[in-house]
Amino acid sequence: MIRQSIGLYRAQGIVLRSMRLGEADRIVTVYTSSHGRVRGVAKGARRTRSRFGARLDAFTHADVLLYKGRSDLDVITQAEILGRPRRLREDYASFCAASAMADAVDRTTPERERNVRLFMLLRSGLEALEAGAADPALLAYALLAKLASTNGLHPTLGACVECGSPARVGFSYARGGAVCTECLDRADPKASIETLDEWTGLLTGEWDELRRRRMVNGDRRDLGGLVVNFVQWHTESRLRAFGLLPVRS
Ligand SMILES: [Zn+2]
Repeated sequence: MIRQSIGLYRAQGIVLRSMRLGEADRIVTVYTSSHGRVRGVAKGARRTRSRFGARLDAFTHADVLLYKGRSDLDVITQAEILGRPRRLREDYASFCAASAMADAVDRTTPERERNVRLFMLLRSGLEALEAGAADPALLAYALLAKLASTNGLHPTLGACVECGSPARVGFSYARGGAVCTECLDRADPKASIETLDEWTGLLTGEWDELRRRRMVNGDRRDLGGLVVNFVQWHTESRLRAFGLLPVRS
């Protein structure tokens, strides 16, 4: 049996989720730059005079001091708030998109596995939302597409994944790419060339450009459905928060 190190560690991170525990405590999941995804209990976090305030809520950027004991759950002993996005708590569409981003990171990353690129990706995605997005839901899909690609799940979009033909009519989740008429299986969903090219646009687009982009509701739904199902298929996770994104924006 591997003996895990026990003791105090400090980490900077973004709160993915914050759940009530009992009368006064919270269980907080944080994606940190140095230790990946960690979960800790913040004791007394919900008491009025707690040193945490009630402030360790979702999307908060904080510097936390954690104690790792023998249980799965660390103890958050201190937290210094570095930033609390205002728009993400006040604007419904931005809140839903931020929740989807946090959910994607929460459900597709292993615990305690450092990945600085992923941390930077989440931070930039949330910052783009906070700066104001023409189409917040589109940014959530962009984050999911980029996250998958960062984790090695990189779809073939510009040509048929099977034969290389540029004439694409669908997408195969199993084969991880676009398919032409000849290579399309019955189980593969149809996908237009425009939708597949928009997916490429999510992968290559800079956040500052993406947050100015807007898609027609039906087009965004088609694109979002493909990206979400592709990631779910390969990670065997259920990305529930994406189902709660507003259909219209
Ligand atoms: Zn083909």
